[in-house]
Amino acid sequence: MTDKIFVAGEWREGRGDLMVSRFPADGSINAELNAASLEDVEDAVQAADAAWRVPCWRGRQPHERAEVLYRVSDLIKARVDDLAALQTRDNGKPLAEARGLVASAAATARYFAAACETLEGELPTQRNSDFMTLSQYEPLGVIAAITPWNSPIASEMQKIAPALAGGNAVVLKPAEATPLLALKLAELFEEAGLPKGLLSVLPGRGSVIGEAIVRHPKVRKISFTGGTNTGRHLAHIAADKLIGTSLELGGKSPTIICEDADLEQAIKGVAYGIFSSAGQACIAGSRLFIQRRLYDEAIERLTAITRNLRVGHPETPGIHLGPLISERHRDSVAAYVERAREEGGNIRAGGRIPDSPELSNGSFYLPTLIDGLAHDSTVCQEEIFGPVLVALPYDDEDELVGLANDNAYGLAAGIWSRDYQRALRLASKLEAGTVWINTYKKFSISTPFGGYKDSGLGREKGRQGIHAYMQQKSLYLGLDATPMNWCD
Ligand code: ADP
Repeated sequence: MTDKIFVAGEWREGRGDLMVSRFPADGSINAELNAASLEDVEDAVQAADAAWRVPCWRGRQPHERAEVLYRVSDLIKARVDDLAALQTRDNGKPLAEARGLVASAAATARYFAAACETLEGELPTQRNSDFMTLSQYEPLGVIAAITPWNSPIASEMQKIAPALAGGNAVVLKPAEATPLLALKLAELFEEAGLPKGLLSVLPGRGSVIGEAIVRHPKVRKISFTGGTNTGRHLAHIAADKLIGTSLELGGKSPTIICEDADLEQAIKGVAYGIFSSAGQACIAGSRLFIQRRLYDEAIERLTAITRNLRVGHPETPGIHLGPLISERHRDSVAAYVERAREEGGNIRAGGRIPDSPELSNGSFYLPTLIDGLAHDSTVCQEEIFGPVLVALPYDDEDELVGLANDNAYGLAAGIWSRDYQRALRLASKLEAGTVWINTYKKFSISTPFGGYKDSGLGREKGRQGIHAYMQQKSLYLGLDATPMNWCD
């Protein structure tokens, strides 16, 4: 594993603090490397600003630019197992989940290669006979991409691919805990022939290196995935600079089991929606609303499933939950469960650190099901980002919609119902950027993703995803050969 960082098209020792990447399952060291320094930031941004302007990238034919992304996609596919293993070492995700993320990164690179090849300008409706107008899409320039630790390869590709496809350069700062995948991606882009300077990867502290990147005058857009507080802070910086942002932030997503749901399917879907990735997903379905007539049976079955989930070493086949990213994060999850106890919650399953000795060096926490809390309790309102599900009964649809929307976030929601009229009616009333009906946590690169309310601004993915990294230039072409008579 590399101990160098990728700055301005070159591999070099970072000039910043020592960083240690650890395997969350047992605390062992994956790699030690020096973080980027402020000088590295300056070098990376200056090189990026020079690189996107030169014809070797923005002036290339779209299919030639796309070729680099197609090659990256092929390189990723050829290395799925290695990349998944690295992702698992870096953040502790079970291998099977890590493989899914790697495959999605390959698909994202392909999708935006195709978007690059097929990108069209616009010929706006023509109303004048003396001129016509065209509107073309142009790059923004240097893009700051700031990513979190929970799904590095997927969230990084979701920013790098559309930004490069749009003719920009990218300065990426991965999360402190997970620098390795981002550096590996830089290697693959280099191997695929990306011209120097168009991508730099600068591991380092968010408050120092991330902050320096986004504040740099030559950075023309901030694309961020992470916590809502950090996102709000970055939005202030962007407002001062008058630049755009794409912000993918937190969530406290409701999932709803309607009285006509297929209970078997719903319960398994709910468990997957919250407990996969040990709940460390912005889209985790962490608030469960169950129609009162089904409540007791649903809770009983969900409790049994939750108690039977296998928590274990992420490289062991067949486990459901690996460790949390760090002991500090595990302690924060445990503190929320303590708070639930104090607020009168009933811990139906989990609620503690597992006691098996082979897990004692890792930051594991048991999947936890809580009910008996009021909806304004802390655990119902705040994002925990761990394997903690809180359940509440509801009686009628109006009450349900009121409760489901009574939260600062609006990232996603799930509805389990056999009645599609009911499900679609409910979906239209929920304040959420994504609503899954009779499924959960499924993704398609061609479908826009983003949040309502405190869950974010802007959308990633989809055909419009490339436009998020471009600006329109409108051209007026005069058709009338006679001089303007205004000054006669
Ligand atoms: P999390 O709680 O998931 O770590 P954060 O929002 O703190 O969420 O972190 C997400 C990413 O944002 C990380 O790469 C982190 O280093 C970066 N980050 C944190 N603070 C800042 C900042 N002030 N400026 C730029 N990036 C930051």
